[in-house]
Amino acid sequence: MKWIKIDKTKWAQGLAAAEGAYRLFGPVNDGAFCNFKALSPGQAPDLDCANTRLSPRSVVYPQSEVLFTYTTDNNQPDAHIMKEAPSPEKPRAALGVRPCDAYAFLLVRRNFDAPDVKDTYWLRNYEATTFIGHACDRPSTTCFCTTAGCGPYHEEGLDILLVDDEDHFLAKVMTDKGEAFVQAAGWQETANVAEADMEARRKAAEDKIVSKVETDRLRDVPTLELYASEMWEDIAFSCINCGTCTYLCPTCWCFDIQDENHGSQGIRMRNWDSCMFPLFTLHGSGHNPRGQKVQRVRQRFMHKLKYYVEKYDAGIQCVGCGRCVQFCPVNIDIRKICNQMNSFGDATSCKVA
Ligand code: SF4
Ligand code: SF4
Repeated sequence: MKWIKIDKTKWAQGLAAAEGAYRLFGPVNDGAFCNFKALSPGQAPDLDCANTRLSPRSVVYPQSEVLFTYTTDNNQPDAHIMKEAPSPEKPRAALGVRPCDAYAFLLVRRNFDAPDVKDTYWLRNYEATTFIGHACDRPSTTCFCTTAGCGPYHEEGLDILLVDDEDHFLAKVMTDKGEAFVQAAGWQETANVAEADMEARRKAAEDKIVSKVETDRLRDVPTLELYASEMWEDIAFSCINCGTCTYLCPTCWCFDIQDENHGSQGIRMRNWDSCMFPLFTLHGSGHNPRGQKVQRVRQRFMHKLKYYVEKYDAGIQCVGCGRCVQFCPVNIDIRKICNQMNSFGDATSCKVA
């Protein structure tokens, strides 16, 4: 681990130098919203963006991804042979990733990198990516990361953490991937950073996050009783099953697989899907185990806040980025539901700090 100093006048120059070796991604302000996208040549990431509307998950797990191509033409020598989509042509660097979003990849990894099942596509994209974080000194009012397992200066999942320091960045380089990126960018000026100063900055940023969730009882709340609770009818009442919450979430991973045929040529695609959509669980038989809205809403919250905790003996499957709170068109608030689930069976009333 080492600290380096990056003068802001050398920031764009460094990115231009790194561009030859890396495909760059970062926050882009396109007028109405900031989104996380591939950067055009010479385009700098907009580090003034707070949480981007779309999280960086598409860098590793694209919204639509070709898994393999095939042909069904028996006259072709390679008929019926599947050709796997090629690996990323060059390493990627995701710039300006918020610490909560970087930590989200570690939560998602439990699904794509299980001991018995490895998802080649997710893993190769993840391994090819260098994560360059940007510490949050101006968190949004909907952020609750400090009670969701991470925080505005959290380092897990990052290769480099950038801390804004007026006319320069202080960059904590923590991994070999991070070191390779600063070499490619030509940033070499080492910085003396007192741990106590950085600790004070971290503490000051954390103190700005006043929104919190309670999770201490989630694991012990009886699963079947919680599942059967009438509270889900109230929670689901206003939901319009638009799927916004799941598409924006850095820790959601539902997908569908479809074949697209054009004549005798075909591609197999993986596309983001959502547990909030009725078709997601529709069986070929016509049976749908989650055909009702209340079943789908319950599934989303039970999965994130109860099943994940139990299955992986871990914290919640949420990093507190606040996107679903901010963008749900009917103001369904995971903080309130988390606290309601946490206090289930207790006399305590639900509350949002
Ligand atoms: S964003 Fe809100 S309304 Fe849309 S599916 Fe999610 S909870 Fe329902
Ligand atoms: S559930 Fe909501 S607050 Fe939690 S990580 Fe997903 S979008 Fe962010």
